[in-house]
Amino acid sequence: SPIRPSRELGRAPVRVSFEFFPPKTEEMERTLWASIARLAPLGPSFVSVTYGAGGSTRERTHATVERLVRETALAPAAHLTCVAASRGEIDDVIREYAAAGVRHIVALRGDPTTGVGTSYEPHPDGYAHACDLVAGIRRLGDFEVSVSAYPEKHPESESLAADIDFLKRKVDAGATRAITQFFFENDVFFRYLDAVRAAGIDIPIIPGILPVTNFKQASNFAARTGASVPSWLLKRFEGLDDDAETRKLIAAAVAAEQVTDLVDRGVPDIHFYTLNRADLVYAICHLMGLRPRAEEAAAQRLAV
Ligand code: FAD
Repeated sequence: SPIRPSRELGRAPVRVSFEFFPPKTEEMERTLWASIARLAPLGPSFVSVTYGAGGSTRERTHATVERLVRETALAPAAHLTCVAASRGEIDDVIREYAAAGVRHIVALRGDPTTGVGTSYEPHPDGYAHACDLVAGIRRLGDFEVSVSAYPEKHPESESLAADIDFLKRKVDAGATRAITQFFFENDVFFRYLDAVRAAGIDIPIIPGILPVTNFKQASNFAARTGASVPSWLLKRFEGLDDDAETRKLIAAAVAAEQVTDLVDRGVPDIHFYTLNRADLVYAICHLMGLRPRAEEAAAQRLAV
């Protein structure tokens, strides 16, 4: 269907949140903070910072989240996984976040250190499943706890029903929100939402949107995460491998179409996997009727 730009600007504005990853180099650091400075005035509900595979970014995640607390008025959410760490080590990280004023953790099991697709072995003294981590976080403080959800099921799961059962365990352990893996077919999300609600899960399920600029990279992500790449999407990027300019325009159109449809069908919150880039996400938010607010901009004391 053609793009349907936000038709009803008068309706309740959509709420957005943005995900970033901790930078590895000084240049990446500059890109990240420039992106945060651009997106912050849109007033996101929260911004989240990922945790590297196997806890590899423990310090960098912490430093990024702390800087968000120190220099901005944003509500940061720190991702945390159970991988390769004892309960004691993970509890220390949680306590450090509490002491730094962080009130929101995205609790994940994480991927095996031996690589995606191999079987997951919990640390002998660690949290075995994401639901155990959720319970551990709730024991240690008054945190908001978000968890993952998989509209096309997690690649290790036997069935979607089993996966939804495990989501229910995370909710029973105290999760307050779920953020989905990215998907490209909105019907997949709405079918999943129906199944989740039928299972008695009533926390917000926020669709995670990956605006695709680099189609090859997105296909690789999708292959690893079990997200399907529809043939119509492949077709839209066909022949553009060496044409970054056109790819960017197509990417904007595709993501705008997906988000507009979600919002038109009543989805109140959207989570963006920004990959630390602001321009496309900013444009989609604008299309959704979001505008930078002077008071938000003033509240961000970013020295970038
Ligand atoms: P889980 O909910 O733990 O599920 C993983 C598998 O275990 C599924 O097959 C599930 O059915 C099964 N399972 C769940 N609970 C139980 C149980 N109690 N008993 C038995 N089996 C169970 N990875 C990172 O390394 N760092 C990040 O910052 C990060 N952020 C993410 C953010 C989002 C929104 C999403 C969707 C994913 C993120 N990931 C991240 C990826 C994630 O770590 C991997 O997908 C990982 O393989 C699963 O961890 P999980 O907590 O998402 O899954």
